[in-house]
Amino acid sequence: MPYRRADRTTPLPRNGRHRIAALAFTATLAGLPVPTAASSEPPFDATADTVFDIIATGDPSAFLCLEDRGREVRQMWDKRIDGERDLNAFLFVAHFRDSAPIDIVLNPEFGDAGSARAEAERYAVPLGQLPALLRSGLRQFGIHKGDKSYHGGPGKVFVYAGKTDLRLSQNHLEESLFHEAVHASLDRDHARSDVWRAAQEADDAFVTRYAQDHPEGEDLAETALFAYGLVFRPGRIPPADADAIRAQVPARLAVLETILSLPPPAFDGTATCP
Ligand SMILES: [Zn+2]
Repeated sequence: MPYRRADRTTPLPRNGRHRIAALAFTATLAGLPVPTAASSEPPFDATADTVFDIIATGDPSAFLCLEDRGREVRQMWDKRIDGERDLNAFLFVAHFRDSAPIDIVLNPEFGDAGSARAEAERYAVPLGQLPALLRSGLRQFGIHKGDKSYHGGPGKVFVYAGKTDLRLSQNHLEESLFHEAVHASLDRDHARSDVWRAAQEADDAFVTRYAQDHPEGEDLAETALFAYGLVFRPGRIPPADADAIRAQVPARLAVLETILSLPPPAFDGTATCP
């Protein structure tokens, strides 16, 4: 699913107090109930907008190699046409040390195999930096040109090369891929589970406004990146922000620590390149 606010050029305040104050003033004038500056206001707008470098460019990657499989007809969802088409796509298979291979499928608009390979290579190492659990549900990674926002669903992620230019300039490609990989690998089992819903109710707050606006579709993907940072990459989120996140969604962080600690599906591949 897209980062709806990913293109914001002027970030919102880190906390919503200014906005709440303005709302309160407006509500008073209108004779409406006055909202309070509750601690439940999400501290962040969206994971894509935070400055945290939770997965660093130099972190180890399980990526091994990119196998060229030539051309193959594949169905590719494309946000630019708001539909799915069969395309004679460029196909590469990315191999990883600790998880099943992922098909990397490129729109024919990339023109020739060399250009398609160069584009595919931009994602190979970052995909290998994701936890194997998040790679395990991702079967097809589709790449188009253009700058639409990334989107992910069970088994599939689609990205747009122009948006990737932006994400690389923000040093946020790895974090964006993490978010989409949660959609691909974890949403189906966890995003609307009883345990997750109970944790949402217990917290009664969201870590990003994007999650708050889409509690069923985006809360797991949004919160998972913060949980991963706090539990598995200590120090990547500054202490004050870490404390704020822990205070905001403690029940969901506990659930996510359990989910992210699940062993990835057994991988019986050769773990070598063909
Ligand atoms: Zn999403």
